[in-house]
Parts: sequence; C-alpha cells; structure tokens
Amino acid sequence: MSKKVLVLGEIRKNELRQVSFEAIAAAKKIADGGEVVGVVLGSEVASLANTMIHYGADRVLVIEHRELQNYTSDGYIQAISQVLESEKPHGFILGHTSIGKDISPRIAAKLKTGLVSDAVSLELIGDEFIFTRPIYSGKAFEKKVIKDGMIFATIRPNNIDSLKQDCSRTGEVIEVQVEIKTLRTIVKEVVLKSAGGVDLSEAKVIVSGGRGVKSEEGFKILQELANVLSGAVGASRGACDAGYSDYALQIGQTGKVVTPDLYIACGISGAIQHVAGMSNSKIIVAINKDPDASIFSIADYGIVGDLFEVVPMLTEEFRKNLIGTGD
Ligand SMILES: Cc1cc2nc3c(=O)[nH]c(=O)nc-3n(C[C@H](O)[C@H](O)[C@H](O)COP(=O)(O)OP(=O)(O)OC[C@H]3O[C@@H](n4cnc5c(N)ncnc54)[C@H](O)[C@@H]3O)c2cc1C
Repeated sequence: MSKKVLVLGEIRKNELRQVSFEAIAAAKKIADGGEVVGVVLGSEVASLANTMIHYGADRVLVIEHRELQNYTSDGYIQAISQVLESEKPHGFILGHTSIGKDISPRIAAKLKTGLVSDAVSLELIGDEFIFTRPIYSGKAFEKKVIKDGMIFATIRPNNIDSLKQDCSRTGEVIEVQVEIKTLRTIVKEVVLKSAGGVDLSEAKVIVSGGRGVKSEEGFKILQELANVLSGAVGASRGACDAGYSDYALQIGQTGKVVTPDLYIACGISGAIQHVAGMSNSKIIVAINKDPDASIFSIADYGIVGDLFEVVPMLTEEFRKNLIGTGD
C-alpha cells in the first residue's frame, strides 16, 4: 500500500544535513510509491526546499517563524505537531541527531505512538517494514517491526544511502503557517564546535586521538591527516579529560556515536566505553605502540608503532596518492 511519509530536513549553518537526504531515501522505501513530504523549519529556509526535492521529496512544507530561528525542542515540537495533525502521514522519519533524539520521544508520547530510534537499516519483508538497530552499545542488533500506528523512526547518520541528487526533479513547495505559543526556552547564543569544518557525526573519515597523543599540540598531526582525507578529528575521553581535545569531539558511550567509512584510532587503548561509539565504523585502523592494546581486537588493520612516526607517514602517502602533491 502506498503511503505518505514525512521527513524532517535538519538544517545546520544554513544547509541541510546529509542525514536529511538519507531520511528521504528511507522514507521513499516506506512510502512504496506514495508521497514523501519534506519539512524545513526556521527563518529564511525556503531556499532549501528544492534541495529536498532534488534528493527525492515530492512536496516540501516550509515553516518560517521567528521563534524557529534557533532550535528549541519546545518550538520544533509545537510546529511539527501542527504539521503532523494536518498532514496525518503514515510515517515520519528523521535523523538520530541531537535534534532527532530530543524531539522524537516527546512527539511519540504526544501522539501515543511507538518509535524506533537509531535505526541503521530497514527492509521490506512481505508487507512489514523491519528496522535494525544496535543495542548494548553496538554489541548486538535487534529487529523491530511496527505493527500499527505511525511508522515513526530516527535513523543513524551514515548508514542508509541517500538517493543521487537530481537537480531536474521538481515538486511542490508550500509555505505553512504555524502558531508558536510562548517558548519556555530562550536561546541566547549558539556556539558551534566542529571537527575542522567537518561534522563529526556525518564524517566519512575520522582520525581519532587518545591519551597517547600526549598534548593538544600532538592533535595537529591528526588534523593534517584528517585534512588530506577530507575527514574530521575525534577524540577519546582520555584525551578530553587530559585537556588535549574539546569534549564536543569525544566519541564513545558518553560522547558521540559515529559510523564513518574509515576510523583511524591513534593512541587509543580501546576501552569498552570508547568502542561503544565507533565499533560500527566500516573499516577500523588502529595505531598503538602496545601490541596487546584491546583496540586491535576490533580493528580491521592494526599498526604497532609510535603514532608520531606512523601518522605523518600516512599523511604523506595519502597526500601523494590522493592529492598528487608529493614527489
Ligand atoms: C561511565 C564512563 C563513561 C565513559 N565514556 C567514554 C566515552 O564516551 N569515550 C571514551 O573514549 N572513553 C570513555 N570512558 C573512559 C574509558 O573507560 C577510558 O578511560 C578512555 O577511553 C581511555 O582513553 P584512551 O584510550 O585515550 O587512554 P588510555 O587508556 O590511557 O590509552 C592510551 C593508549 O595510547 C597508547 N600510546 C601511548 N603513546 C603512544 C604512542 N606514542 N604511539 C601510539 N600509541 C601510544 C598506549 O599504548 C595506550 O593504549 C568512560 C568511562 C566511564 C567510567
């Protein structure tokens, strides 16, 4: 049966985040020939509506309101609830990002519907949609089926392939008015912490450093390798606790959960709490001078050696091969 599925277009620095396009691809599968409706919220966001259409949305609702200029769960929930009320979709898909994690349980509770959070894949078997999601910090996976009610899910960034951008696609863009009642939160300032310009949770390559990097200065060689690979720099909590890196870049159980194509762990021992945040990376490379470091047990490739020798060598080789600026 074809369905109508809503997708939240998440915006950061005036651009749609990649996970929004991945959500459209997931929604397309669920819609099964039905309609995928994008929603963008904010102020001066109308120009992003067509990008959602180029990635597969059929129609996009643009909600512009000065109270939505900065994200607040209160404002977003009020606006999205009104859209869900008027559109009555069969499904709603959004990224498992800070915003997705914040608003989805509250919307589910409001609508008295179930929610599959942090899905990494979905497949159609018969007429049932099966979502797969990691549990126990990525040590096992469970499959979930939504039997009735809205198909409501958040998807983990970097796991579901987006559709190819097709700038010739056209669709309807509709401005929608919503009423935002007094917000209980006022955002005074937004300070963005980024991993060298690349969003850590969406990075395809992450070069991550641990206590073995020894200083803030030591992270510079990691940044150079990340730059050559167009990746982001991450860190273990050990490195953050030691003051070598900002906590915004911490990966793990109490940090960010990432699934890049390539994760290069430098001077990280592989504590269970760190592994919880990166074990689902597609390829893991570990550089550690201790051959018995537990990170090697989950690594696809291990380099036993001093990171201060190995990392610059890798940077140089990648530079030659990828950028061609070597000899
Ligand atoms: C409740 C709780 C939550 C936690 N959450 C997180 C979390 O989200 N993320 C996280 O990362 N941790 C977390 N931790 C901390 C975790 O248990 C570890 O303490 C931490 O991950 C260790 O960081 P590390 O591997 O950088 O440091 P260490 O364990 O000190 O390892 C440093 C490694 O560097 C290697 N090394 C040293 N010098 C070099 C060199 N020159 N070249 C190559 N290798 C070298 C050493 O051999 C060693 O293996 C949490 C802990 C608790 C209790």
